Amino acid sequence: MKVLLTGGSGFIAAHCVDVLLKHGHDVVFTVRSDDKGQKILKNHAGTPSSKLSYVIVKDIAQEGAFDDAVRSDPPFEAVLHTASPFHFNVTDPKKDLLDPAVIGTTGILKAVKKFAPTVKRVVITSSFAAIISPNNHPKVYSEANWNPITWEEAIQTPSNAYRASKTFAEKAAWEFVEKEKPNFDLATINPPLVFGPVVHYLNSLDAINTSNATIRDMIEGKCKDAIPPSTGFLWVDVRDVALAHVKAMETSAAGGKRFFVTGGHMSNGIVASIIRKEFPEFADRLPADIDTSLPADIFGYDNSRSKEILGIEYRKLEDTVRDTVKSLLAVGA
Ligand code: NDP
Repeated sequence: MKVLLTGGSGFIAAHCVDVLLKHGHDVVFTVRSDDKGQKILKNHAGTPSSKLSYVIVKDIAQEGAFDDAVRSDPPFEAVLHTASPFHFNVTDPKKDLLDPAVIGTTGILKAVKKFAPTVKRVVITSSFAAIISPNNHPKVYSEANWNPITWEEAIQTPSNAYRASKTFAEKAAWEFVEKEKPNFDLATINPPLVFGPVVHYLNSLDAINTSNATIRDMIEGKCKDAIPPSTGFLWVDVRDVALAHVKAMETSAAGGKRFFVTGGHMSNGIVASIIRKEFPEFADRLPADIDTSLPADIFGYDNSRSKEILGIEYRKLEDTVRDTVKSLLAVGA
């Protein structure tokens, strides 16, 4: 298939590129600058431009940002929309997080409907943030759950703003398909905290993606006095997330569905204890006593839909943490 992948410079998108190429698809990714596009192409030296190329989309928060990018010859058959800000450096929650998430999502859908009628499936990277009810956890989370966050709560803290950005964007996507009845259908991938090897271009570990930052901090000795408290208690490997995107694009039965993709429970203490066991050279950068317990009333999770429809077999946390640390050492930790 010929596929448009938005946010090509991202941590998850880089793995999507790898899986898409491995599955024989032709990929055009969007980036904000030529510099980023060229660096990604350099990572795939030897891949012909008919298989991998890029287009510039400077700011997904602008109306019409994707109108040119979706037009292609030969035309696109599918779109993976991963681009969305994931960070907590927020001065204006609306401008920094909510607008790019929501306008970016509705923008790609409008552009596909208008200018790319050959696209049959759009896969959107949503999040567990669009599922979780932080103040009222159900016994078991699944695709049936929605974050009840309101606009008033969204602008209270950066973490609320991020969770709301993913919730409002995903809701807007389902509403668009419901109302507009476009030529394509939709699938969403809803991962919790994503760990895994860094294969995207990084100038330095200071620019690490948000979800791998705690692992970087642990090996740099920034958690020596105390392991930071965990927030989400669920994780997934980036390679499993990328495969889920591609399978959701390829599998007819995935249309019209959300996919809650998770490898299971975790805590920062469990991650730190894996680092200490796998990399004894970092033991003195971590506290002597690490609490690896999970809360007694921890919520459960049901990831069966992703296993049954997409065929995902989740990696183990030990393998993911080991591979993540190795990749960070290669960048220069
Ligand atoms: P990254 O920060 O590595 O990637 C984000 C991507 O979005 C980058 O390519 C970035 O471009 C692009 N982007 C952000 N804002 C804009 C904008 N205004 N205009 C154009 N491009 C923009 O994060 P991840 O790879 O982790 O995240 C990818 C997706 O996965 C996001 O939708 C995120 O919400 C979702 N997600 C991530 C999880 C995780 O734990 N990592 C968990 C659940 C969901 P640039 O590089 O130029 O800034």
